[in-house]
Amino acid sequence: MVLVAVEFDGRGVTQTALLRAASDIICAAADREGNPSLGYERYDDAPDRVGVPIKGFSVISKYEIPKDQAEKDAADAALPVDQVPAPVCDLSHYKDCYEEVAGEAMLYEPRSVDAVLVYDDTMVRGGEPWAHIGLQAIHEKLKDGGAIVVNSKKDPEFLLNFIQPTNKRYILATIDAEGMDKIFVVPLIGAMLRVAPGIVSYRSVIYAIKDRYKAEGLKKAEVVKEAYHKVKFIEVPPAKGPIQLKRRSKRFEEFPTWKEMPEGIVVYAPPVNTPNPHYKTDTFRTYRPVTDPAKCNKDGLCWLYCPDSARSPDPEKLFEIYVDYCKGCGVCAEVCPTKAIKMVYELDFKEARLW
Ligand code: SF4
Repeated sequence: MVLVAVEFDGRGVTQTALLRAASDIICAAADREGNPSLGYERYDDAPDRVGVPIKGFSVISKYEIPKDQAEKDAADAALPVDQVPAPVCDLSHYKDCYEEVAGEAMLYEPRSVDAVLVYDDTMVRGGEPWAHIGLQAIHEKLKDGGAIVVNSKKDPEFLLNFIQPTNKRYILATIDAEGMDKIFVVPLIGAMLRVAPGIVSYRSVIYAIKDRYKAEGLKKAEVVKEAYHKVKFIEVPPAKGPIQLKRRSKRFEEFPTWKEMPEGIVVYAPPVNTPNPHYKTDTFRTYRPVTDPAKCNKDGLCWLYCPDSARSPDPEKLFEIYVDYCKGCGVCAEVCPTKAIKMVYELDFKEARLW
């Protein structure tokens, strides 16, 4: 028996439904092969935290992964989508596989994953969704030899600058999924089939997609095929030697003990004008606010309205942001009467790299 898993990394509130959609498609494809599966989300925060990194998972138990799965998928992907043969539903190992996947159902997240699908390319920097948890690298759960597939207009080489080094080897792939389909998880899955074969087959995904999208099914299946052929990828070798990271996820023994945590459900309140030092929100950010000194009238509205106290109260510093705590919500830019604040794509900043 083999357990395989896919992780979906998106942003809270706006992409929650798309986490579910991707998980449903992968699990429906597994069903068509007769393999039991489990799909779930790990929602990390209250809904007001726009941009919070959230995760979803599909876990599949199968008897074995055919050694020639990549070749079979490539042959299917060469056919017109309406001529792809139907997958064979083999239920002969279902009971054993079911017991194995059922054993995973109580886990907070899978122990390891074969592929990570990233919905927003700024998330390759990693995510810090909770107080105390630290920064989780994008490949934290990835198996050695797994694949990261990113929805991005950028090349994999560019994104690699922002990913923490690791002793694992992996494939880093990009696809401009949003440019291909408004349900961008469809091309993301098509790209995954190419770089992480064996999780589910190309043909089972084509049939699952056709079934899910009914009248639009063939069109969406074409998108899967296009993404399969268009995906750009590189092989990332393991980093050599020990790796020192200035920010990383905390180990279990580093979490505060029950004696150190406040009583009951007491919520720590930072002093006025101070961000919460236990809770960095910079990985929520896709865009960063930048103030034009020539337009700033120093009225302080940006500081006043910032929901995370992520701005200094000092007009002489143009109410500069505390970069670890700005979540990129854009409220300051909205309320600025002189339009002095622009939201700039996070990966345009070299220091967006968190390691
Ligand atoms: S500084 Fe601006 S973008 Fe950043 S959290 Fe505050 S209001 Fe939102």
